[in-house]
Amino acid sequence: MKLLTLNFVQCATRDCAGRQDAFPLAPQNVQLAAQETDLDPDFMANILAKIDWPGLETSLNQLGRPLTFTKEQVEQDQNLLKELHSILIETTIQEGELVCPRCSHIYHVKDGIASFLLPPHLV
Ligand SMILES: [Zn+2]
Repeated sequence: MKLLTLNFVQCATRDCAGRQDAFPLAPQNVQLAAQETDLDPDFMANILAKIDWPGLETSLNQLGRPLTFTKEQVEQDQNLLKELHSILIETTIQEGELVCPRCSHIYHVKDGIASFLLPPHLV
């Protein structure tokens, strides 16, 4: 899964669904990979408008790759947009765990795919 996905998912258990403090899921024991893709400036501008920036900062800090620029800087600098593309779109989580900051439920990532299926008692 692309790192971007971390910004658009949250814990889905009955107790956490819809709660802001169940976001973002914290990556743990992750194996990252890089997958080169073409930069689509319009797509990235669209993403930039929708992204939860504080959530992104939290996720990247948890990954040990803190951001070195602000959202405002990206909006004015095409090179930073490219760097953000590299972080969000080209960087993927191949294996690992995503941990809910609220209930500590663990979602597993295998072969680059996160499973958000829940056992029946948590739905
Ligand atoms: Zn949760």
